[in-house]
Amino acid sequence: MKIGFIGLGIMGKPMAKNLIKAGYELVVLDLNKAAVDELTALGAQAGKSNVDIANQCDVIITMLPNSPHVKAVVLGEGGIIEGVKPGTILIDMSSIAPLASREIYEALAQKGVEMLDAPVSGGEPKAIDGTLSVMVGGKKEIFDKCYDIMKAMASSVVYIGEIGAGNIAKLCNQIVVAINIAAVSEALILAKKAGVSPDLVYQAIRGGLAGSTVMDAKAPMMMDRNFKPGFRIDLHIKDLNNVLETSHSVGAPLPLTAQLMEIMQAIKLDGCGVEDHASIVKFYEKLAEV
Ligand code: NAD
Repeated sequence: MKIGFIGLGIMGKPMAKNLIKAGYELVVLDLNKAAVDELTALGAQAGKSNVDIANQCDVIITMLPNSPHVKAVVLGEGGIIEGVKPGTILIDMSSIAPLASREIYEALAQKGVEMLDAPVSGGEPKAIDGTLSVMVGGKKEIFDKCYDIMKAMASSVVYIGEIGAGNIAKLCNQIVVAINIAAVSEALILAKKAGVSPDLVYQAIRGGLAGSTVMDAKAPMMMDRNFKPGFRIDLHIKDLNNVLETSHSVGAPLPLTAQLMEIMQAIKLDGCGVEDHASIVKFYEKLAEV
């Protein structure tokens, strides 16, 4: 089986490396030549174009920023759809709008091509370790067929439901992460302004009910002033946009998520869009004049 892999960024590159480690034959593509070179040095073949990848691969994985990128690569001019053969499976592992997943699925179905939406959580460290969490939408029999491929990059691969369901699960994940980072920021700022060591407060509360994976990942970054991504504010804004579009369309008011969207927009206007989402703490520092 030959797997095409398009999108070798912070996440896609280590994910592709884990597929090579698991013994899969890979054909890779990215706008960034350095990322492609890194993979070919490990044994992958460089794809010439989306159509070239579609021509020769049985399964194609995409790991791109957002809905417009995935639509362009799959359905646009020179896109996968122009070269794909019936029976091919697209596994889109990008975090995109659930509605976009459904649109791409419908268009591919016309060509006899199957699709899963399979976004991930866990960030770069878990992408490197091959311990991501994958949440999957699409037909159950296609999920079963692709399980081993996804498991080569993840410790948890969960079937959620029909196409789009994977991305609904991912949006739920992004709500919890955003609000949790803000909660950690508020706690650390209060400690600092009250004259107590934020680090000792963190050490004291991390093992109790307040502790979380988010706290353990982001509190040290905030205290070390390390805002290297990781997960960029820009991408989180993209996700919250998709959350709010979806929540409006289904009638689920999400007041805290809406506030987090405003906070992230403010940080982006301050020039921090390319920083890790731990930089949410900077918004609070400004308010508290820390
Ligand atoms: P990234 O910006 O680092 O990588 C995206 C890659 O896609 C880049 O290498 C870019 O060159 C490539 N690309 C863009 N358009 C292309 C095209 N037309 N053809 C070929 N390559 C193209 O982003 P990332 O952090 O790897 O995130 C990818 C997806 O995974 C996003 O949807 C993101 O929300 C999601 N995600 C990211 C993280 C994280 O911690 N970074 C965690 C979970 C999920």
